Amino acid sequence: ASIFSDVKMGPTIEVFALTRRYNEDTCPEKVNLGVGAYRTDEGKPWVLPMVTQVERQMALDPTLNHEYLPVAGLPAFRAAACRLMLGSDNPAILENRVEGIQVQGGTGGIRLAIEFLKRNMDSKVAYVSNPTWGNHKTIASSAGLEVRQYRYWHPKELKVDFNGLVEDLKAAPEGAVIILHAVAHNPTGIDLTMSQWKEVADIMQKRKLFPLMDCAYQGFASGDLDADAEAVRYFVQRGFELFICQSFSKNFGLYNERIGNLCIVTKTPEVIPQIRSQMEIICRTIWSNPSHHGARIVATILDNPASYQEWKQQVMTMATRIKEMRKMMCSKLRQKKTPGSWNHILEQIGMFSFTGLSADQVRIMVEKYHIYMLSNGRISMAGLTTKNVDYVVDAIHDAIE
Ligand code: PMP
Repeated sequence: ASIFSDVKMGPTIEVFALTRRYNEDTCPEKVNLGVGAYRTDEGKPWVLPMVTQVERQMALDPTLNHEYLPVAGLPAFRAAACRLMLGSDNPAILENRVEGIQVQGGTGGIRLAIEFLKRNMDSKVAYVSNPTWGNHKTIASSAGLEVRQYRYWHPKELKVDFNGLVEDLKAAPEGAVIILHAVAHNPTGIDLTMSQWKEVADIMQKRKLFPLMDCAYQGFASGDLDADAEAVRYFVQRGFELFICQSFSKNFGLYNERIGNLCIVTKTPEVIPQIRSQMEIICRTIWSNPSHHGARIVATILDNPASYQEWKQQVMTMATRIKEMRKMMCSKLRQKKTPGSWNHILEQIGMFSFTGLSADQVRIMVEKYHIYMLSNGRISMAGLTTKNVDYVVDAIHDAIE
């Protein structure tokens, strides 16, 4: 018998299991609304033209090599990523109290942030929104933190449960890490208004709670990178010391390059070297030093004004197509008089819609119609196209009737 005989099967990772089932499915009408990855109106992945252009230049550049990067990553990338998040004229940047650490996607940033907080700040509890991106809980608990939830979504009213959120934050112990979705909340597609953010900031400042901002969708909510950074910039302006986990998977379409930045903002510049040194120790034991390809691409585009403008347009193209799919889906559901108010589809932002479909209704979508979506009712709007929207709407109508 193998020494591994007693190893237990773990739970499946839902979104990857869905993609596998979708790939194996031979039904011609099949639709993948599971994975949060942008698709063109032909239902194809999109390599951003700006990314292709930079990759071509890189292929011809004789000065590039495959040497190790520093443990904290490519300096030009880290600086450019922080500027994108905070705005280049942000006082925190001008006062040298911002640092970036290159990490393996948004996921790597969250893991690094939590590890750092646990080891160096004695953090014991992390709060995640209910519901949230599934990996928040597992990352925080793997790092040994107790995970608690703050209310976020009102399932009956299909809107933010702000009173619940406020109550839960007020009850959080001092020093608790609060994981916040900086923009385009996953899975609900509903963000706080600026006056709600202000109230959250008031409570967090008063109760000494630590903001860990997860920013995986900058540009995907409004199409405008600065507008989508508003909540983060507001917290910085309020004087918080905080971490922001930036992912470039979605807004550069660099999903498998695993490129992210952990942006650190402090009150004073003196503490930056000691934070960086502790973060480097953690990086060294997990991935030692990060990969180069994605960082080069992002830094090259962000540092060249013309490329930057072109890339911004391409982000706008993605955000706009998704918004159009929202309008189309909503109006078709209304035309069919499918029971329910479908306003929420229109009002939600970013890559996802939280449809309100029950687990049983989702089962009909998957089993009968080969439309793959998460059991909590979340769909990726980027998987909808002008060609499959009628099929999806008909299926929703049938699942609900
Ligand atoms: N946070 C949220 C809210 C996400 O939706 C995602 C990606 N699905 C991530 C973080 C992680 O992104 P990455 O793939 O860059 O690790």
